[in-house]
Amino acid sequence: MMLKLKNINKQFDSKPILKDINLEINDGEFLVLLGPSGCGKTTLLRIIAGLEQACTGVIEHSGREIQDLAPKDRELSMVFQNYALYPHKTVYENLAFPLQIASQSKDLIDERVKLLASKMGLSDYLKRKPKELSGGQRQRVALARAMTKEPKLFLLDEPLSNLDAKLRTQMRHELHSLHKESGATFIYVTHDQVEALSLADKIVVLNQGVIQQIASPEEIYAQPANSFVASFIGSPGTNIFELDGKQVGIRPEFFDLSQKSSQIKVKIKNIELLASEVLLYCDYQGQQIIAKINRSDYQAELINKNNSVLPLFFDKNMLYYF
Ligand code: ATP
Repeated sequence: MMLKLKNINKQFDSKPILKDINLEINDGEFLVLLGPSGCGKTTLLRIIAGLEQACTGVIEHSGREIQDLAPKDRELSMVFQNYALYPHKTVYENLAFPLQIASQSKDLIDERVKLLASKMGLSDYLKRKPKELSGGQRQRVALARAMTKEPKLFLLDEPLSNLDAKLRTQMRHELHSLHKESGATFIYVTHDQVEALSLADKIVVLNQGVIQQIASPEEIYAQPANSFVASFIGSPGTNIFELDGKQVGIRPEFFDLSQKSSQIKVKIKNIELLASEVLLYCDYQGQQIIAKINRSDYQAELINKNNSVLPLFFDKNMLYYF
């Protein structure tokens, strides 16, 4: 077991921010802390890093208690949203610095820096200073720098937040392979469920400082533990509404326009055309329902009128009951 958190509680100004967090992280695991803004993700990561003290609780790293150790003695490396690069050093020097401090040989440093720079698409920028880079490039330098020492435990707080959509996808892929190649344990904070679902071995969903569910991405998607997880995960999230006197949930993508075992009659309120899908915003007995259907199933002439009524079909066994 790489890391164990036991009964972590944190208050700021007597306001509870983290409530009784218990969590185990395996060696080599990619764990994602996922939750809405302000739920306590960054605070939890900072507590693990030692930048913040928990009010109560124990943190074990490879069997030893570390909650009272200084950050530098915790054997971990971290990258934060506001990456702090050395402004007067070049990219090369920024990447080399942690290895110089560790008294590595010049040749080894050179090899390692060049390898990481090429992985991160930074080879052309090695001579530049941080202020001569875009936000995204700086973020990549910060990521690369945190990796130079090949940490066993790696903490990342929204490291892709400043990148544009295309670079984000590319970096997500890079992170995935860096994780696989390094064998290191990653703890990764994000509010972006796409990142969480695509990167994580295990996701911890947090809301208002309380763990809602700890499970694999597949399980989080298919078997949400409660209505918060159901509606937070998915794009859009699960529809939760009253059907025959019961509160049920169904994912927008589980609705269909062609015949299935069950149906509800809805009124179309709005239509949003996405790249390969169409979102239908509907009214069902005064409740909003969103259906996501394939573009190829969408026949504009049948449903493009506001307030037109049509049946949405679904399989009954795709309903969750809360
Ligand atoms: P985001 O995704 O927006 O970064 P988060 O889930 O990481 O959010 P935290 O940064 O952990 O959330 O903050 C959790 C709560 O604790 C917020 O309500 C925040 O305002 C509060 N908080 C964080 N740091 C402090 C502090 N030093 N003093 C007082 N309150 C704080």
